[in-house]
Amino acid sequence: TPADIGVIGLAVMGRNLARNFARHGHRVALYNRTPTRTRALVEEFGKEGDFVPAETPQELVASLARPRRIVIMVKAGAPTDAVIDEFVPLLEPGDIVVDGGNAHFQDTRRREAALRERGLHFVGTGISGGEEGALNGPSIMPGGTAEAYQSLGPLLESIAAQVDGRPCCTHVGPDGAGHFVKMVHNGIEYADMQLIAEAYDLLRHGAGRQPAEIAEIFQGWNAGRLESYLIEITAEVLNHTDAETGRPFVDIVQDRAEQKGTGRWTVQTALDLGVPVNGIAEAVFARSLSGSVALREAARDLPGPTETWLDSAASDRFAEDVEQALYASKIVAYAQGFHEIQAGSAEYGWNVNLGDMAAIWRGGCIIRARFLNRITAAYQADPQLPTLLADEYFTKALGEAQSAWRRVVTTAAQLGIPTPGFATALAYYDSLRANRLPAALIQAQRDFFGAHTYQRVDREGTFHTLWAGDRSEQRQ
Ligand code: NDP
Repeated sequence: TPADIGVIGLAVMGRNLARNFARHGHRVALYNRTPTRTRALVEEFGKEGDFVPAETPQELVASLARPRRIVIMVKAGAPTDAVIDEFVPLLEPGDIVVDGGNAHFQDTRRREAALRERGLHFVGTGISGGEEGALNGPSIMPGGTAEAYQSLGPLLESIAAQVDGRPCCTHVGPDGAGHFVKMVHNGIEYADMQLIAEAYDLLRHGAGRQPAEIAEIFQGWNAGRLESYLIEITAEVLNHTDAETGRPFVDIVQDRAEQKGTGRWTVQTALDLGVPVNGIAEAVFARSLSGSVALREAARDLPGPTETWLDSAASDRFAEDVEQALYASKIVAYAQGFHEIQAGSAEYGWNVNLGDMAAIWRGGCIIRARFLNRITAAYQADPQLPTLLADEYFTKALGEAQSAWRRVVTTAAQLGIPTPGFATALAYYDSLRANRLPAALIQAQRDFFGAHTYQRVDREGTFHTLWAGDRSEQRQ
C-alpha cells in the first residue's frame, strides 16, 4: 500500500514528526540525504508504526499515494531550496510540498509562487514546540492554498496538540501566512521571556528575594491568570541547584542570551510594515546587549543610584505589584504581536483569523497560556478590533494594573534595575491613550528644517510656514 505522507530530513525535528505521524496510524515514507539516519530511525522506532524507508528521492516519491504529500524538515535557507529543487522534477501537478522548517515568510512566498507555476502546492508551515512538541503534539501553522489544506489538514490536525478537543492547527492563510504567524509567535515569545526575566530581576535585586523564594512566588502566579508554560518552567529553573557548586543554577549560567533570528525577523518585518512592536524589539535588543561583552565591560563603572534595595515592608507589597506589571506588559506585548499579524495579513491579502491564532497557540508551543483564551474571545467579539488593548476585558485589566505597573517602573528606575520590557510597554500604553502626542512638535521641526509640510487640526489641507522668511503660512 502507498504511504500517506513522506518526511524528508530526519534530524531531530523530522524524525520526531515522522514518529508522531506513524503513532497516529499514518503510513510514513522516510528519506534523508544521509541514509544512515533513515536506517537508524527504522531500527530504533520501527515498531512504533508503519514506516517505508527510501534510499533515493525517486524511491520516496514512488512510495506515496496521490496527490503526494511530502514534508521537508531540513535546515532552513539554501538546504531547503536544494531539497525542493531535487524533488520538484519528480512530482506531478496537484502534489503538495510542505516546508516545516523555520523559513522566512518571504522565502516561502517566493517558493510558493515558483511551485504554483508548475501546478504544485507549496505549504510553508510553522511548527512550534521544539523536538518535544514535534513528537507529542506541536502547534502547527500551515499556509498555502485552501485546496492543499483540504488534503493535508486532517493529517496535520491528527498529530497536533489538542486542547479542549480542538487541534492546535488551522489553515492560517495563503502562501507565506503560516511562516509569518510562526515568526510573530517567536517574537512574542522573546517579549514574554524578557518580561518574566525582568520580574525575576526585580524580585531578586529590588526585593532581595532568593531564587527559591522567587520560584515559590512564580508558582503562586502560575495558579492564577498568568498560568503558562513559561512561568511554570521559570519556577522550575529557579528551584534548581547546581550539583557541582551547590549554588542556585541561575547564578552559574553566563548572563549572555543568544538568539537564532526569528525575533530579529519579527522586528525587521514590523519596521517594514510600520507597526510599533517596541516590546518585542526591546526583548531582542536586551539579548544583544547582554551578549555585548566589551560594551558591558567598558560601562561597568558608570555611576548608579545610592538607593539599591526596598525595605522589607515595601518588598512584600512589591511582589504583588510586579505580578500586575507583568500581566499588563504581557497584554501589551501580545497586542503588538497581533497588530503585526493584522498588518501583515492586510499587506499580503491573507485574511488571517486572529482569534484562531490565539486558539492554536494554547497547546504544543512555548507561549501556551491560559490568557490566550481571552485573546480568542476578544477577536470573536470583534474581528476588526484595532488593538487588543481596546477589548473590554483587557481595558479593565490594564486599568486595574496601571497604578502597580507605574510603581514598578518608577521603583526600577530609582533602584537602577533595567526593565526595558516593562518600561516600553507602559510607554506604548500611555502613547496610545494620549490625547495629544508631541508628534505635533516633530512635524513642526520637520517643516522648519526640511519644508516637509504639516496638517492643521482646524482645517483641511497641507501647509508650510516660511520659517526663514516672514513666517507666513502657505497652503501647498
Ligand atoms: P537541522 O536544522 O539541524 O538540519 C539537519 C537536517 O537537514 C538533516 O536531515 C540534514 O541531512 C538536512 N540537510 C542539511 N543540508 C541539506 C542539504 N543541502 N540537502 C539535503 N538535506 C540537507 O535539523 P532540525 O531537525 O534541528 O531542524 C529542521 C528544521 O526545523 C529547521 O528548519 C529548523 O529551523 C526547524 N526547527 C524548528 C524547531 C521548532 O521548535 N519548531 C526546533 C528546531 C528546528 P543530513 O542528515 O544528510 O545531514
